[in-house]
Amino acid sequence: MTMSGVDPGRVRLGAAFALSAAMGLTGITLALIAAPSPVHAPFTFPAVLLVPLYVLAFRYTLDFEIHKESHVFVLTAVPLTLGALVATPASHLVARLAGALIAVAWARQPPVKAAFNTAVAALEVGTVATAVSLVPASSKPSPALWLALLLGLLIVDVISNLAVSACLAFLGLPVTRRSVVQPLLVGIPATVVFLCFSVLAVTAAWIEPLTVLLVLVLCGGLTLAYRAHQRLTSQQHTTERLYEFARDLGPVNVLQPGALVVLDQVRELLHAERLLLSLASEAGWRHYAAVEGLPPGPALIDADQFATVMRAVDGDRPAGRRVSADQIVTPLLRSAGLVGILAATRRMGGARDFDLGDVRLLETLGSELATALERGRLLADLERAATTDPLTGLPNLLETTDRLDELIAASPEGILLAAVAVDSFREVNDTLGHQVGDDLLLEVTRRLRLTTADALVGRIGGGRFAVAVRADRHGSGAEMFGLGLRAQVEGGAQIGVVGTHVRLSVGCVTGPEHGSDAATLIRRAETAMYSARHVNGGPVLWEPAYEVKGQRRLAVVTALREALSSGAIGLAYQPKLDLASGNITGVEALARWTHPALGAIRPDEFVPLAEASGLMGPLTTTVLRQALTACKGWQRRAAKVGVAVNVSADTILDPAFVTEVAAVLTAVGVSPDLLTLELTEGVVVNDAALAVERLGELRALGVKISVDDFGTGYSSLTYLKGLPVDEVKIDKGFIDGLSVEPADQAVVRAVVDIAHTLGLKVVAEGVEQEDQQAVLLHLGVDEVQGYLLARPMAALDMAVWLRRREASQLR
Ligand code: C2E
Ligand code: CA
Ligand code: CA
Repeated sequence: MTMSGVDPGRVRLGAAFALSAAMGLTGITLALIAAPSPVHAPFTFPAVLLVPLYVLAFRYTLDFEIHKESHVFVLTAVPLTLGALVATPASHLVARLAGALIAVAWARQPPVKAAFNTAVAALEVGTVATAVSLVPASSKPSPALWLALLLGLLIVDVISNLAVSACLAFLGLPVTRRSVVQPLLVGIPATVVFLCFSVLAVTAAWIEPLTVLLVLVLCGGLTLAYRAHQRLTSQQHTTERLYEFARDLGPVNVLQPGALVVLDQVRELLHAERLLLSLASEAGWRHYAAVEGLPPGPALIDADQFATVMRAVDGDRPAGRRVSADQIVTPLLRSAGLVGILAATRRMGGARDFDLGDVRLLETLGSELATALERGRLLADLERAATTDPLTGLPNLLETTDRLDELIAASPEGILLAAVAVDSFREVNDTLGHQVGDDLLLEVTRRLRLTTADALVGRIGGGRFAVAVRADRHGSGAEMFGLGLRAQVEGGAQIGVVGTHVRLSVGCVTGPEHGSDAATLIRRAETAMYSARHVNGGPVLWEPAYEVKGQRRLAVVTALREALSSGAIGLAYQPKLDLASGNITGVEALARWTHPALGAIRPDEFVPLAEASGLMGPLTTTVLRQALTACKGWQRRAAKVGVAVNVSADTILDPAFVTEVAAVLTAVGVSPDLLTLELTEGVVVNDAALAVERLGELRALGVKISVDDFGTGYSSLTYLKGLPVDEVKIDKGFIDGLSVEPADQAVVRAVVDIAHTLGLKVVAEGVEQEDQQAVLLHLGVDEVQGYLLARPMAALDMAVWLRRREASQLR
């Protein structure tokens, strides 16, 4: 047979039982062979009376606090002395064992503990009887007898203490030198005191049996004094600890890790085995428990059990209740009413149940806790306000940055981040009011939240959002991720009574390739997003070149602001030719700017910057004035040559623009029908409702409207129907491949067909070659503009060019 099948726990228990058996048998043997007491009492004391004395001594212990540690003294030394002097060893043994058995049964001690205590009881009787039997016989207790008793009791003390340590070691519990020595240091003096008391009482009874009455009175008095002292010290102790608890109690937020230790402190203050905190929340009751020996935490509790607790609390007054001998509860009240319930179960130590004092203590602790919870909630609210965007409930820029850093740390495969701008947000806000603007953002938020459940969505500015996901959840890469977002969010949206079209500009980055920290990644995604505005929304993937551009952007915007106020922005003009008549019908004004340090800056670069930095208004104003002034200048010679001015989206949607155009026309003195405003197709289509209204107003002035870059946007040709426009300019992209690309021809032909049916003029821009022009003529295009006819030129050159042209035509 091998040892492998043997449970080590059983081996340990076996050792503990064996030790108990050895001690018990030794005790019994000693008691049986010991000679009877050497003194002959003048009275008879029935040994059976020792049984209740032993039980009482076990049941009513003396608790003292020494050096901040509590010590429990068992009074067995008293009946032991009495039994050794007045009973035969055998009857004493029987009485002692009976007392011990009743006591362990009463305390429902587990078998090991019961066996051990019973064995120690036998050993006590045997040892003390043996010690006493060694003293020569005498008629009354002598000092030699006292010493023998003392010796016997001390030996019992030492042996039982060592046996306890041995048993603990057998059971695998920790034993230290301190845990062995400390009880002896306190126990031995106590034994001496109890012995003195017992010998005194017995000796007095020897002389006069009735002194027993005096001894009883004395005992009663001492007990009362002890009780009073005990109550006082425990009260003082509780007050002290309550004070410390209240002093150290900060705001408590149960959702924060570690916050629940406070429950364990409350439980310890109440000497309860279990403490339950139930808190009312919008989602129902939530429970938290602290149980002796376990870390405090959220708890699931039985519905019936909770119903009992609920019934016990008085919902209006902060009054605690004793539900049963081992449960007390108190409501937690704030101004708003009942916010929670605190319940303590099973009082530990001191062998008593919960009393009124405990209920009062629970009430006090409850009200402290309610205040701490309230403060915790206020603090959490403040934190939320500091980290959350109040409109959408999304994390704000600060919080988004923090959470993105966390996401980066938790994503070994990297992350994808998209910065998203709602294109028409500012216009909607300015023209339809903030309420509609807010509702638009809420709708966009709702759609953005449809991204994967673990996506991070934050609002990083006015109409700007950030969406981040772990790269391994989107294997297809950042651009696909950006495209997916557009597909998910863009489209028609009904905002109250207003129907609008949501469009996004999306810039993307990947981490850690494009930056290791959240702040850098967000900044770069935004840079890419601004670029996306000019390429139909993107998505645009960030690249290092943008960083340089970013710095240049700043320099250009600053310089542009200066240039606009100092009048450094000039115009170039490029003529348009009517193919049928060979006449010059108008010229397009194109902004030109040469900066002393930065050199010539193309409108492709500074026009978008003017848009992004709010400089579009001043730019349009200067262009309009210069263009109309030049136009007036060449009217005297070349009659009926109009001027076309490019107008950006921001400008056309601004109601003040109509007034401005009218004012400039009047001030310069040019007939409105000589002015054409060129708008890119995107503007007209995206914000159709608004644009239509403005365009109608402008046309009412007599101004013509041209749809620029036609064919690059989304619109179908039929969309043109019903729009208040006069001409379409087919984008250069279709003209470039015209002579070789049949598809481009088809597009141009279709545009011409539809435009002519709608009564619109068709212009082709960017015409560079003769054969292109020939095809255009063949396809029925009305006018051409491009390098073939003339490059854009300065105002004076334009005037000369027009004069020469007129002259050659006349010849
Ligand atoms: P756009 O309105 O499509 O203007 C036509 C652009 O094509 C001009 O570039 C012009 O110089 C160029 N171009 C004309 N013919 C040819 C050709 O045969 N071949 C080639 N390769 N290019 C040709 P520019 O002047 O650099 O202007 C670029 C864009 O900047 C314009 O495109 C327009 O959208 C914008 N822009 C220019 N001036 C203004 C302005 O005053 N206000 C506004 N809002 N935008 C402006
Ligand atoms: Ca144009
Ligand atoms: Ca164009």
